Amino acid sequence: MSGEMEKPLISHHPVESDSSLAEAPTVGILGSGDFARSLAIRLVGSGFSVVVGSRNPKRTAGLFPSSARVTFQEEALNGPQVIFVAVFREHYSSLCGLSDQLAGKILVDVSNPTEQDHLQHRESNAEYLASLFPTCTVVKAFNVISAWTLQAGPRDGNKQVPICSDQPEAKRIISEMVHAMGFMPVDMGSLALAREVEAMPLRLLPGWKVPTLLALGLFVCFYVYNFIRDVLQPYIQNRKSKFYKLPVSVVNTTLPCVAFVLLSLVYLPGVLAAALQLQRGTKYRRFPDWLDHWLQHRKQIGLLSFFCAAMHALYSFCLPLRRSHRYDLVNLAVKQVLANKSHLWVEEEVWRMEIYLSLGVLALGTLSLLAVASLPSIANSLNWREFSFVQSTLGFVCLVLSTLHTLTYGWTRAFEESYYKFYLPPTFTLTLLVPCVVILARGLLLLPCLSRRLARIRRGWEKDSAVKFLLPSDLLVEKTSHV
Ligand code: NAP
Repeated sequence: MSGEMEKPLISHHPVESDSSLAEAPTVGILGSGDFARSLAIRLVGSGFSVVVGSRNPKRTAGLFPSSARVTFQEEALNGPQVIFVAVFREHYSSLCGLSDQLAGKILVDVSNPTEQDHLQHRESNAEYLASLFPTCTVVKAFNVISAWTLQAGPRDGNKQVPICSDQPEAKRIISEMVHAMGFMPVDMGSLALAREVEAMPLRLLPGWKVPTLLALGLFVCFYVYNFIRDVLQPYIQNRKSKFYKLPVSVVNTTLPCVAFVLLSLVYLPGVLAAALQLQRGTKYRRFPDWLDHWLQHRKQIGLLSFFCAAMHALYSFCLPLRRSHRYDLVNLAVKQVLANKSHLWVEEEVWRMEIYLSLGVLALGTLSLLAVASLPSIANSLNWREFSFVQSTLGFVCLVLSTLHTLTYGWTRAFEESYYKFYLPPTFTLTLLVPCVVILARGLLLLPCLSRRLARIRRGWEKDSAVKFLLPSDLLVEKTSHV
């Protein structure tokens, strides 16, 4: 078998420029369903010669590219050394009659289990296939690529193809095929890891569960709080029905609260991590698990913050379209006329509103930049300094702008008794708590005594180590350091 493996089955360039010099390598496919069809199209397009093994070739031949040969299963296995098994796991055993023809060949398992199957079987589909065909080499590959992506080509979908097998040579051969088909092979290790590879397409937005629950939790809390203050209080104390505010107005006062708090929660774990490193005097001790997870979820939390802020902007644009707003305006105008007031202009309110809106637009603009820069295609084009400038410096500027936006919204309301409905403080005062803590902490970390120590720790200095370590700038200030 190892002798067989030494033969170069697939060359790096499957089709030579002069086709008369080199024949296209032949690849076999067992099964003639959706996946087999897309695979055949891509393989033919990539310069391979394809032979499809079907139980009923007459029925399915018309669905395949004309250059692919569709024949009976036994016949299809005669030539090719690489066979794709495009059949569901429950039908693997029906292929056992082909064991002799398959002996010594590379079987590529492309199957995906259902969620239920994945829980039910402890052994992966690929390991099961290997146990049925012990004389073959099984490689797990292509299961994360949908039939649609295969057909449309890698430009329209995921490019990475995780591969695992116990036979390095077989893995190399399939990796070359993956490359030739325009995808990117990712070596995942031995076949024992096939279960993990098979779990990949079953995942539903990994990394988003906790941030989404956090955003929803914050939304519910702030919504209930705003409902009590803006709807329930006027109803109970003055018998005024403000329930019409529930779909737009209360949602619009809730969204910026969630966006603002989420944004501050993006920067809080960084501050906590810095404080821990300062207290421990080293960066070589692991953070507690909860902090580690929090740090890893900052991107998702930031994107949810952007989503809420964008929705807030949209809702705010819609506010003047509401009937209630028009009635309020007309009623105000009538009141003005009845009171014989011709000119309504409060200079302070005008300025407050101008500054408030401008800060809001600037904050949303900066947050949009952060969101765009977190997209993998953009993030990958930035070097580390550029990325950290955008996400750390610009992010902090965004937090400060949002804080100023909130402060100009609140203005003097925090000090006016009438705004404490049911003794509950105005919502904006609650939202300011975490962001102000983050801004103050970031300010403290800028103090030279702390920032220098933190910079040294992050470059490997340790409090209890006997190694002397100085930043170049420290050499002028201090001669030795007790580390
Ligand atoms: P499908 O359309 O139902 O095709 C399955 C094929 O299996 C049939 O066309 C049949 O071809 C063949 N087969 C062989 N023995 C069989 C038996 N005893 N009973 C029934 N069918 C038998 O399914 P598919 O969507 O192509 O999926 C095939 C494999 O690819 C599955 O393991 C799936 O998990 C995997 N996959 C599919 C996708 C996708 O997007 N569709 C993506 C990733 C992975 P003949 O009648 O010609 O023998």
